[in-house]
Amino acid sequence: MEKLEITREFVERMPKTDLHVHLDGSLRLETILELAEEQGVKLPNGADTPEKLAKAIHMGEVCKDLTDYLKAFDVTLSVLQTEEALYRAAFELGEDAAKEGVKYMEVRYSPLLHTEQGLSFPVIVEAVGEGLREAKRQYGLMSGQIICGIRHITPESSLRLAELCVAFKNKGVVGFDLAGAEANNPPKDHRDAFYLIRNNNVNLTIHAGEAYGPESVHQAIHMCGAHRIGHGVRLREDGDLLNYVNDHRIPLEMCPTSNVQTRACESFESHPLPFYLSYGLRVTINTDNRLVTDTTMTEEIWRCVEHYDLNIGDLRKLMIAGFKSSFMPYRKKRTVTARACAEFDKLVAEFEESQGAKAVQDPRVAQEIAIQKASADATKPQVELDPYSGRSGVTPEDAEYDLNAASSVEEVSEVTEDEKAS
Ligand SMILES: [Zn+2]
Repeated sequence: MEKLEITREFVERMPKTDLHVHLDGSLRLETILELAEEQGVKLPNGADTPEKLAKAIHMGEVCKDLTDYLKAFDVTLSVLQTEEALYRAAFELGEDAAKEGVKYMEVRYSPLLHTEQGLSFPVIVEAVGEGLREAKRQYGLMSGQIICGIRHITPESSLRLAELCVAFKNKGVVGFDLAGAEANNPPKDHRDAFYLIRNNNVNLTIHAGEAYGPESVHQAIHMCGAHRIGHGVRLREDGDLLNYVNDHRIPLEMCPTSNVQTRACESFESHPLPFYLSYGLRVTINTDNRLVTDTTMTEEIWRCVEHYDLNIGDLRKLMIAGFKSSFMPYRKKRTVTARACAEFDKLVAEFEESQGAKAVQDPRVAQEIAIQKASADATKPQVELDPYSGRSGVTPEDAEYDLNAASSVEEVSEVTEDEKAS
């Protein structure tokens, strides 16, 4: 029997996560034009069509370096200074992601960059949260926010953002990050912010090993306490640290197209992703910036399939890594991951039938999938729970967990019901 061909349609329909996506780098071109018109904001080089605007922000073009790449954000941020604009950007990002099979997304941004017209931090977080909640209502997309400190702005400002993050913990915000120009701005300068974050048991991810060497990853993990690493492209330069990251299952949020665009690595071919994957690191694939990098989750995974000749076991593994590495609470994560696996396997069966082919022919791939399933079984709850809800006797619609509503009255009463049941 023929071997199943992994098509772009398969990639589009498989369940996906996006754990590393910047709100201010992921607007639609048309939305920037409309917002600029509404707000009377002047766009560079008189850009008044999507084509001209794409050129002005070097959309999808290889840049000189990360700092050069970050210039596009001056343009996107110029129209993201009102509540309405933030709500719209968040909702549309959710809509775009959900429509291409993303089931769970963590959206990051720095409120500090949205205060030019006087918006306060809480108002900004609430506007983004409302946009994401609307995407949840309309498309069922689960999501959370990550608040970013900016490394080339002062450590004091990072501390203010960390305080905000702590205040909104369990109210739509799931983690803290440090973003911005990496070279010459080591994460340890922002240690007070990280201390506050860790002291309050908040999830932490840090951009590291993108525009600077493995020392930056070392600091992020050992001095700052990062639970995940953004990119980690240059981690491969330090084998000892690479093994530490592997042994401790520290997830890497890799964004292959963006990494080529910012010159964190020379080309898709020289990207460390296939090496990391084969070595067993917990690698996740993400978009970084849908607009600036001109990409989608489908596109990122598809490019990896084409460039690295990924098989069905690799795809399943990457998908699981995405769900497992999320900042969802563990018990919820377990059921959401189980559901994604069931959906994935069903999709494989459907494609096998339509192609008259078999997905797994290589015994090594079969073994890999068997190991994935065995390790999933080992973490299964002792009492068989509904894979949709993590509980028994609850319908999938009832059970859909909403991180943004985690503190709402409904959610609290649900917990009480649970407690009664147990
Ligand atoms: Zn990033």
